[in-house]
Amino acid sequence: MTSAPLYTFNRSEELMSRARQVIPSGIYGAKNPANFVPGSYPVFLTTGEGCRIRDVDGNEYIDFLCSFGPIVLGHRHPKVEEAALAQASRCDSLNLPSEKWVELAELLVSITPVADWAAFAKSGSDVTSGALRMARAHTGREKVIAASGSYHGWHDWCSPIPTGIPAAERALVATFPYNDLEALKRVAAENKGQVAAVILTPFRHDFFRDEELPAPGFLEGVRALCDQEGIVLVLDDVRAGFRLDLGGSWEPYGVRPDLILYSKAVANGYPLAVALGREELRRAAESVYFSATYWSAAVPMAAAVATINTLREEGGIEQMRAMGQRFRDGIEQQASSLGLAITQSGPPAIPFMTFVGDTGFRRIHLFCGECARRGVFLHPFHNWFLMTAHKERDIDQALAVTEEAFKAVKAQFGG
Ligand code: PMP
Repeated sequence: MTSAPLYTFNRSEELMSRARQVIPSGIYGAKNPANFVPGSYPVFLTTGEGCRIRDVDGNEYIDFLCSFGPIVLGHRHPKVEEAALAQASRCDSLNLPSEKWVELAELLVSITPVADWAAFAKSGSDVTSGALRMARAHTGREKVIAASGSYHGWHDWCSPIPTGIPAAERALVATFPYNDLEALKRVAAENKGQVAAVILTPFRHDFFRDEELPAPGFLEGVRALCDQEGIVLVLDDVRAGFRLDLGGSWEPYGVRPDLILYSKAVANGYPLAVALGREELRRAAESVYFSATYWSAAVPMAAAVATINTLREEGGIEQMRAMGQRFRDGIEQQASSLGLAITQSGPPAIPFMTFVGDTGFRRIHLFCGECARRGVFLHPFHNWFLMTAHKERDIDQALAVTEEAFKAVKAQFGG
């Protein structure tokens, strides 16, 4: 793979110029790596199989972005496809939910220690906003505390870009730096008696920075504060869910939220989101308006049942951890033997890497671009993901590419 000619993207570029004519920005959303590393990434893809994806120019990649998280088992995983196709041959969207509505809720409640009920939606933003509505109904309060820089979706209360959003909406959200318990306590005290929810990602996985696992005592302190002040603690597990622990990403820490929100990996790429809650919040969940036309579609629910069962039966969490560690160890060894200072962060199954002192992200842009042009799909400022389809030979093949990319960084920027 490494000695082959570097990839080119003519068809992608041609499609992008057509897209710009008829779609605002051609592709909206701010995360498309082709915008940041021009000429080194494809813009349009055609197929995915296992851990490999292919673009419209016919280039193949080992995928470490997993569709920004959803692909947890592998693209077109046979067991998920079989379940989805079987369901599609009967029904997807009908007047009323299918039996999968009940079966999936029972499965999720049975594997999630904090959950007594499940409510379904389509996207992460649906459930983060829905959870706040439930917390407000439960507490009779309006304010929310979130960590500054955490991503919770595109809705008015949390969009990272404020354009087009009423200031009054944002005034209800107070922020503090993730892992800073004292700062959180101060914000809670300033808003005493007014805070409905604290919403947190399981660890800090913001764009453009090293990931941070919860500091010792942080989660326990958040839980205690919420208990003391009657605040609903919401775990936004939309991005990390189903890669660290099938009972919720805080289970290894022994800290239990009041609501857990999933989307992305729950159905291996089929559109689905879930809010899971404690008994105490059932009345609030029943009282708020929470609905949409496609929320009960059966195919994604069948895919979710198959995804969760396959992860359980095949030890998926451990497999992703082991392969993520193999990738991390290989990268560490390559960077150190070339004398390049890097930081690897986050859990092995949701890793990220930066170059130390990389002002303007120029080194990581070059590194990821060089990887893409040789067949390894990493993102320069969004965390990476493992999937269970990554096997040792895929990791080793990817490492042969990262080695070339590190050499390119060294050649351009020195050690
Ligand atoms: N929360 C987190 C932690 C996320 O990573 C995302 C999506 N990246 C969302 C919420 C929003 O999900 P969606 O894009 O499906 O609305």
